[in-house]
Amino acid sequence: THTQFFRDTWVEVNLDDVMENVKSVRRLLPENISIFAVVKANAYGHGDAQVAEAAMDAGAHGLAVAFLDEALSLRKNGIESPILVLGASRPQDVRMAVDHNISLTVFQESWIEEAGRFLKGHDILKVHIKCDTGMGRIGVSTLPELKEVEQSLVKRPNFEIEGVFTHFATADELDESYYHRQLKIFEEMVGSLSSKPKYIHSANSAASLRQPQKGFNAVRLGIAMYGLSPSEEMKGLLPFPLKEAFSLHSRLVHVKKINPGDSVSYGATYTAEKEEWIGTIPIGYADGWIRKLQSQEVLVEGKRAPIVGRICMDQCMVRLPHEVKAGTKVTLIGKQGEERIGIDELAKKLDTINYEIPCMISNRVPRIFV
Ligand code: PLP
Repeated sequence: THTQFFRDTWVEVNLDDVMENVKSVRRLLPENISIFAVVKANAYGHGDAQVAEAAMDAGAHGLAVAFLDEALSLRKNGIESPILVLGASRPQDVRMAVDHNISLTVFQESWIEEAGRFLKGHDILKVHIKCDTGMGRIGVSTLPELKEVEQSLVKRPNFEIEGVFTHFATADELDESYYHRQLKIFEEMVGSLSSKPKYIHSANSAASLRQPQKGFNAVRLGIAMYGLSPSEEMKGLLPFPLKEAFSLHSRLVHVKKINPGDSVSYGATYTAEKEEWIGTIPIGYADGWIRKLQSQEVLVEGKRAPIVGRICMDQCMVRLPHEVKAGTKVTLIGKQGEERIGIDELAKKLDTINYEIPCMISNRVPRIFV
């Protein structure tokens, strides 16, 4: 399922792990709850079409992406499942959505009016109304606004209200007070609709793993499907073990002994104090292996070895414990023997969240699916 590549650096995505994560969530949720697999941003860097297929095979009901372009790309790759665009689309692009059976998110009356001018005849645009209950990003935030949007859609025959949803700002935090506030506002908003759409959804991974979803009938599952905890503090609350699907590998392309006083890489910032074995791996900041990862460890022959010297655009160097053959596999994210470098370790190192790590490994690195 992957195109041929000619470099010694690659991402491995374990689709069995993705499927198992989806199945675990499937078993956890009541049967009437549909799962929308969130595959925006190339499935958080994992490969969108492949993850989409795996998620559907594992019992997801549909897919969610951020932008219309991402939905169209899935269609181009032969994905026929229902797709919801979570972010804002442009009113002049609605025919693309209709033609490819893609559902869009709406939250402004003026947008509906303008989009309506691009629809005619038997065109039906399926939409989900987004409610802003405290995220402060997109969505209608008052009952009168919601009524205006609903009525505007109902009176136009080219629109079908397929869903209503909101997004939580703090579902991954131990303190549930803000979550409950948002939930209450959303329940009020849903209750005010003159008829209930097919899909009523609020939960991301964190809320899916923690709450039974009563009153709603769909969830939007992202990070947990990839085997990552929505937050550090939720790790203790996970109802089942998650399987991290993403790993990153390379190979030593050059191995050499350097002498005391010899330096490595730009700026000559690293200087050997004794004889050392240095290996070069063909991954650098243009692959998303950013310069801040200098001093991060990688796995070689099942042991940790630090990156030394500055990370270059396409290459970086590691200090090996002893001479190792060129061609030896290097694991930057993942397991070798008993040792493991997880995505959470990198997130901590970079002072960010695990979501950002697979997303930042650029498209230059081929994804292979195992
Ligand atoms: N729903 C919306 C609107 C989102 O923006 C996202 C991702 O950020 C998700 C659901 C999935 O969230 P998570 O990856 O935490 O499951």
